[in-house]
Amino acid sequence: MGCSLEKNKKQCKCTYEPCSRKGKCCECLSYHLARKELPGCCFSKEAEKTYDRSFEKFIEINS
Ligand code: SF4
Repeated sequence: MGCSLEKNKKQCKCTYEPCSRKGKCCECLSYHLARKELPGCCFSKEAEKTYDRSFEKFIEINS
């Protein structure tokens, strides 16, 4: 099974445009998990725009 890069890019909700990992969900997840963060798509539209991808922010908006 190949990577659905173009399909992923179209569906990506992350607004951080310069990111080279856009559409590469496996790289995106690895990058953020290594920093105790989650990808932008795990956050609400408003929270995503803050670029705070921390576990703490995720818990805060889901509590
Ligand atoms: S969530 Fe992070 S790694 Fe993923 S596309 Fe957005 S800025 Fe890039």
